[in-house]
Amino acid sequence: MKSILKYSHHLLEEIIQPGETVIDATCGNGNDTLFLSKLVGENGEVIAFDIQEKAINNTDQLLIENNCTNVSLVLDSHANMENYLSKDLAGKIGGAIFNLGYLPKSDKSIITKGESTIKAIQSVLPYLKPNGRIILVVYYGHDGGENEKNSILKYVISLDQKKFDVLRYGFINQKNNPPFIIAIQKK
Ligand code: SAM
Repeated sequence: MKSILKYSHHLLEEIIQPGETVIDATCGNGNDTLFLSKLVGENGEVIAFDIQEKAINNTDQLLIENNCTNVSLVLDSHANMENYLSKDLAGKIGGAIFNLGYLPKSDKSIITKGESTIKAIQSVLPYLKPNGRIILVVYYGHDGGENEKNSILKYVISLDQKKFDVLRYGFINQKNNPPFIIAIQKK
């Protein structure tokens, strides 16, 4: 069985093609951004968001070390994502990842929140290509995490099954609020 991290990347690998535009909604230390950058290659583009300058700088550093030049880093909330997506990308975005929670080894009070996460998901959905996917890695053991988890679950469960498939993947015998994945695939 694949770990949560491995499976989140596997779900993206399966559908993203070189040359596509993709989104990292929470770039943090840049690990997912780097993964996406390699996946789409030099003719593709990653648009990566974070609200913390420290996260943008950490990601930038990792990308420089790996000679990645296909990433646009955006210091803004993913709730404002629409401002950064050109209309001609509608129906063309291969995938997006939201790694939720707080920046590891940093201020645990700066966290993703249900309302803005859902607004961002709603912004991405019309931009996804057919069979494109949004991957949410849901960490919820921290203060505020349970609220975000519940709002997101309520929202994704309500997505029209004629338009989207929604998957949940996680280990149900692990202790201490293990993270899980929600994958939304456009039909
Ligand atoms: N994907 C990252 C990686 O590979 O290292 C880890 C992301 S970390 C778990 C969550 C990140 O979400 C933090 O860096 C935090 O600053 C960011 N964040 C919180 N609220 C946000 C928002 N509204 N928009 C964009 N990023 C946000």
